[in-house]
Amino acid sequence: MQDDFLSTPLQFLKGVGPRKAADLSRAGLLTVEDLFYRLPFRYEDRSRMQPIVSLKPGFKAAVLGEIKSARLAVTRRRGFKIFNAVIGDASGAIRCTWMNQAFLADILQPHLPVVIFGDVKFDSKGLHFLNPEYELVTDDISGVHTGRVVPFYEKTGSVTPNMQRKLVRSTIDQLAPELPDILPVDLRARLQLVPRRAAIEASHFPPNDASVDQLNAFRTPAQRRMIFEEFFLFQIGHAWRRHSSSVELKPFVPVVDDRIRAAAVKILPFKLTPGQREAVKEIVDDMRQPQPMHRLLQGDVGAGKTIVALLAALVAMENGLQVAFMAPTEILAGQHYGNIARLLSQSRFRVGLLTGSTPGLKKHTLQADIERGTTNLIVGTHALVQETIRFQKLGLVVIDEQHRFGVAQRAALRAKGLRPDVLLMTATPIPRTLALTDYSELDVSKIADLPPGRTPVQTSVKPESRRDEIYQLVHDELEGGRQAYVIYPLIEGSEKVDLKSATEMADHLQAEVFPSYRVALLHGRMKPDAKERVMHAFAAGQIHILVSTTVVEVGMDVPNASVMLVEHAERFGLSQLHQLRGRVGRGAWASHCVLLYQSPWTDDARERLKALASTSDGFAIAERDLELRGPGDFFGTRQSGLPRLRTGDLVRDREIMEEAHREARRLVSDGALDAELRRFVDERWQQQFGLIEVG
Ligand code: ADP
Ligand code: MG
Repeated sequence: MQDDFLSTPLQFLKGVGPRKAADLSRAGLLTVEDLFYRLPFRYEDRSRMQPIVSLKPGFKAAVLGEIKSARLAVTRRRGFKIFNAVIGDASGAIRCTWMNQAFLADILQPHLPVVIFGDVKFDSKGLHFLNPEYELVTDDISGVHTGRVVPFYEKTGSVTPNMQRKLVRSTIDQLAPELPDILPVDLRARLQLVPRRAAIEASHFPPNDASVDQLNAFRTPAQRRMIFEEFFLFQIGHAWRRHSSSVELKPFVPVVDDRIRAAAVKILPFKLTPGQREAVKEIVDDMRQPQPMHRLLQGDVGAGKTIVALLAALVAMENGLQVAFMAPTEILAGQHYGNIARLLSQSRFRVGLLTGSTPGLKKHTLQADIERGTTNLIVGTHALVQETIRFQKLGLVVIDEQHRFGVAQRAALRAKGLRPDVLLMTATPIPRTLALTDYSELDVSKIADLPPGRTPVQTSVKPESRRDEIYQLVHDELEGGRQAYVIYPLIEGSEKVDLKSATEMADHLQAEVFPSYRVALLHGRMKPDAKERVMHAFAAGQIHILVSTTVVEVGMDVPNASVMLVEHAERFGLSQLHQLRGRVGRGAWASHCVLLYQSPWTDDARERLKALASTSDGFAIAERDLELRGPGDFFGTRQSGLPRLRTGDLVRDREIMEEAHREARRLVSDGALDAELRRFVDERWQQQFGLIEVG
């Protein structure tokens, strides 16, 4: 019965006509439940009434009094009316003025008791309230708009915040004293969660002793319960899907013995860092399980992920399995191929490179070798698994630098009936909260340390007026035989202008600042082969200064480049700057990154640049970036798997998300998921959180 009430469409409520219902539904509010789960965005304390005599201009105040007189004045401006009323209490009286609300003359009639709330103003005629909130005092003294801690809602079309407040109040009043609760009983008891109905009521109409500060931080027990419920339901879906896919078995399960361990040691060119060793262990442990691995390897730029992946590949190959190694760009695929072929040159395994520019005949032979199983490891771009390549015995897929699409590619693999182990790698550190949402079904390994001997990049933030000094620094590096990057922003919407400034800068640097060095331009609008040519020339040291848009962000590995100048640094995101900076400091030389900003810069920009200059820890930077930008922007325009949330906020409520994640996993692994929760996952989960099925 009450469940029916919660699913009642809002248009059936008293006072909600078709127009309002349409406006509400546009804001995602379709049912009574939606209305309850759209929490106020802030709260205001209107509970304390002040004596009129104590009012001061410039402050908000609430007063309780009687309407002494009321008058509708017509002004000279056509159709513009002013309603004036005088409100009095035992201490004095004050004028209230409402612009253009003539209907108030019918409501605020003399002698009625009323509560007024609003800004106290001062003009030539003294103190007054301008357009205050008002509420007639009835026998039931618990006010809705005044005389209490009052909730504020986002305006939704023709539905004003006040209307919504009234609607929520009258709808709560229709609720039975208890509501069915989807959260398991013992969970509620253990976490001491407020019962559902009480949580709904107190989140919208808090008791008068509630702390407004705590309310506005969304930390009252009632609010926490609402947010926990949402996060828990979200995490239950992930936990359940993870559980269901764990019953799937892979066709080949590798084993690891001493012979394989010895083979691994033989290819290692250096000693692994503790972080790398731990990651290898986690990955290999996964590979020995009967279920396919689905693991994300996170490690800052230069942390040494490639060798970790290669050791995993070696385990697969020693077990007679094939490996597909995918990179986002041809350049990167080429780099991986070069490194891997070198490291495996003493082994019996054969390595191939297959990209869009592999000549037809060669491609043909390679495909045949893969099909026959004579090529053991194939490096290529992300198209590798989608193309018509048939593997003889595919055991492991490594996907570099594209975690998000890795999830889709895994789905593509499954669709082809393949269930290999999948290892995703990323240098974009993913803040824990996002890892718990977007990547909740992945296991995560982290390499938190760097190989020994790296000198951190010296980062400085400089204004335009210091440009000459910066050029001097670049000049000194070039003189010492090093190379330089100059990075230009390319912002959506102003590409033309941005591209023009990058081009002009390249010309200017070549002609006037560094005439004896070679300057080249690189940007995303260039044809792929032109791009490749420039990148190869830079990698080979034939170009000294590379003026580039952010296309260098992924993949460029030119250890000889020791200085980067970022123009308009204030226009870049924090994580993006960190990725860019990772292009220098890859060799034995001390490197510099200069962030040049143009005034005026916003406080946000200042914060970002300061944060970047103060640390080189990619994870700390990612957390800070998430805080500064909010989760929606964190991944920029990239396809994102962020859930649509009604009550919770991924940044503000991250520790509630952690708790929900823990509890959901626990419940699923205890086998305690009840029928109702399972029905929710099957029938409503995807729709409620607005997520697309990816596999
Ligand atoms: P990323 O994690 O950014 O992909 P790479 O795998 O490309 O990093 O490694 C960066 C560089 O560090 C490579 O030149 C690699 O050979 C080197 N490297 C990786 N691990 C170690 C180590 N344990 N000791 C010394 N050098 C290492
Ligand atoms: Mg890499």
